[in-house]
Amino acid sequence: MQYRLGSDLKKDFPILSTVLPNGKRIVYLDNAATTQKPLSVIERISNFYKFENANVARSAHYLGERTTIAYNEARKAVANFINAKEEEIIFTSGTTESINTIAYGWGENNLSEGDEIVVMTSEHHSDFVPWQQLAMRKKCKFKVVPLNSDGTIRMDELRKSITPKTKIVTCAIMTNSFGIINPVEEIGEIAHANGGIFAVDGAQSVPSMPTDVKEIDADFLSFSGHKMLAPMGIGVLYVKKSIIEELKPFLTGGGMIDEVKNESTTFACAPDRYEAGTPNVEGAVGLVSAIEYLKMIGMKNVLDHERKLLEYAYSKLSGVDRVILYGPKDFEKRGGILSFNIKGIHPHDVAAVLDSNGVAIRSGHHCAQPILRALNVDFMATARASFYIYNDESDVDALVEAIEDAKRRF
Ligand code: PMP
Repeated sequence: MQYRLGSDLKKDFPILSTVLPNGKRIVYLDNAATTQKPLSVIERISNFYKFENANVARSAHYLGERTTIAYNEARKAVANFINAKEEEIIFTSGTTESINTIAYGWGENNLSEGDEIVVMTSEHHSDFVPWQQLAMRKKCKFKVVPLNSDGTIRMDELRKSITPKTKIVTCAIMTNSFGIINPVEEIGEIAHANGGIFAVDGAQSVPSMPTDVKEIDADFLSFSGHKMLAPMGIGVLYVKKSIIEELKPFLTGGGMIDEVKNESTTFACAPDRYEAGTPNVEGAVGLVSAIEYLKMIGMKNVLDHERKLLEYAYSKLSGVDRVILYGPKDFEKRGGILSFNIKGIHPHDVAAVLDSNGVAIRSGHHCAQPILRALNVDFMATARASFYIYNDESDVDALVEAIEDAKRRF
């Protein structure tokens, strides 16, 4: 069945019918920060607590068994969604924890003085700071690949940066600042040809486009549930099976052991050994429900829809007096993120005027200061409207009208 995205889906998201205190309908365009949740996800979580809740893989009773089955099924569903194997999926609290798990669990044991870590200038701080700090701890060289003026990666510089000393290359599939889709397959090939491993940040891309870890040939992939209709506090770290033994447990404690003696401890098999403590089962079952919803729509359709709205926004805003739009004009290189500024108005003021019109966007540095500094972006900040499956052209129209209002007021 062909699903009609946009207004047809709004009814599935209770929060979108919110009427704001000023009487405006809510126009939610802050999806790159977090997405809203459909009723099916909300009800799945509620049913988990009504009918299944117990601890996982510990309690030999009816509820314990139901929870354990649900949690194991969640791992299967996530694996299937990104074309991985169950044992390659580690549940975390989100992308940030996933990336820190790689930095501490892999980086700490596989890097030494003089090795190189290569990151892009356009990374989110969560895919930048953990690597920078690792490089400082291990006395490695931290190389930051420069960008073209539209925010895309300078591939000539990337080729020069990656050398046989490079141990890890890391890159977002889709950037959160401008929504640029990076050529990760090509970058991964260069990393591997030099003997490095390739870690990809899928926080923005997994919610918005098809993901196949085999096609990307990623060694690690990190993403967060809350950006793809699922609850906050659940995330995923995919680890390619052939290198999983190189990843040492970063957190230790209950649930991840095989045998504990006074002198020493042996660990459980992967992936359990990477999930110390009581896991977020509520999040995992919510994530399954979110994946089911997205699969019903089709991930290719999600990307097409976001791009259609981006193109529509460009058709309304390109060349408009005082409006600056960031990122490449080639929409094939973009997801549904519109980063912009209005000359002479701080983006926080833009966001405040938009909010008074019911339009919710994000303003600021988007946890991506290096790209904004490198491109000399005014105020080192932008306003960012980000589209998702339930947005439609009327939401873009509301955005455009609110931008005109901001221009009138300042
Ligand atoms: N990477 C990217 C590209 C992101 O957009 C985000 C979230 N803004 C993160 C990493 C961090 O995700 P989380 O806050 O869910 O850990």
